[in-house]
Amino acid sequence: MAVSLGIPLIRAAEPAPAEVPQDGPLVDRYGRAHRDLRISLTDRCSLRCTYCMPVTGVPWLPKDTLLTTDELVRVAEVSASLGIVEMRLTGGEPLLRPDVVTVVRRLAAIETEAGRMRVSITTNGLALPKMMDDLVDAGLERLNVSIDTLDREKYRDLTRRDRLDDALEGIRAARASGLRPLKLNAVAMRGVNDDELRDLLRFAVEHEAELRFIEQMPLDAGHTWRRDAMVEGEEILAELRREFSLERVAGRGASPAEVFAVDGGPATVGVIASVTAPFCGACDRVRLTADGQIRNCLFAREESDLRAVLRDEALDEPGRDAAIARIIRGSIAAKRPGHGIDEPGFLQPQRPMSAIGG
Ligand code: SAM
Ligand code: SF4
Repeated sequence: MAVSLGIPLIRAAEPAPAEVPQDGPLVDRYGRAHRDLRISLTDRCSLRCTYCMPVTGVPWLPKDTLLTTDELVRVAEVSASLGIVEMRLTGGEPLLRPDVVTVVRRLAAIETEAGRMRVSITTNGLALPKMMDDLVDAGLERLNVSIDTLDREKYRDLTRRDRLDDALEGIRAARASGLRPLKLNAVAMRGVNDDELRDLLRFAVEHEAELRFIEQMPLDAGHTWRRDAMVEGEEILAELRREFSLERVAGRGASPAEVFAVDGGPATVGVIASVTAPFCGACDRVRLTADGQIRNCLFAREESDLRAVLRDEALDEPGRDAAIARIIRGSIAAKRPGHGIDEPGFLQPQRPMSAIGG
């Protein structure tokens, strides 16, 4: 078993070879072209957000299963040859990876069909004050910083760490970096921060950032998510409209967020309604876990093992690249039309969000 989360993971159902295109862009059976690779750099984190990780007893990925930086760059290079033009580094907390700056530098140097690889990061922000300049120097293009509450006690209860001041310091560093658009992520939670949605938007506007509210998804380690307890995108908008005028911005493309101009703009706010208004039809994303598994969806119950190929001593280098490409193509060919959260029979993936890479 390649992944030791204590649960055997299902391997991807291999589509018949004839069904897997062996050249051209990464287009799946539903016509979706894949351009964006989400890379989890680590499953470790400096926080323990209730909707993501358990307070203790996290089944960490064994160190020897984590992809080395050379392995990761290799996958990235093959992905670029298949049409990937954008990479988002995530986790766990990606800034905990000791060589994250080197990873950014090497990924940002990869040539794609649309110029240099565009590299962004999603982070809890805690390490940004000490790393921001190096990340910019390495070629980071954009970043999203997660902040669910501005209340110190709530932040401590929600993340199980008393680090609100560090997170705010991180947002200040992100703002000062000049990287734009700067985005802030907030998961809306009933009885936790649903009384703060307008405060969060005001804060984001003041910090020249686009706030994106995310519907809470069933990806917590404890499998405690309840559909009826979730704050829906429409509720979020109704609450914001009590104070702000919101006007839908056209041209969403493959973005998960529906974006609105705030009070006539230029400030904007996004709502990622993954559960109530899924955007699977326009999905252009594929994921690589820190232990080298390709997932064609956040909610996939199957994975395809790249690590074995990366470490197979019987393969020569061209053979290895060809095998990596074949596995990525097979995964895309097997992608389902949607995640099915709102359908009967939906099963939460075995890995929590922190081990998939959000
Ligand atoms: N540690 C980094 C962070 O928190 O930004 C990156 C990884 S985190 C998994 C990426 C994003 O996923 C964060 O914005 C987080 O709030 C979001 N997230 C985590 N669990 C979630 C869940 N169950 N539902 C919705 N969003 C979630
Ligand atoms: Fe860590 Fe991000 Fe998960 Fe919070 S959401 S526990 S910061 S990985």
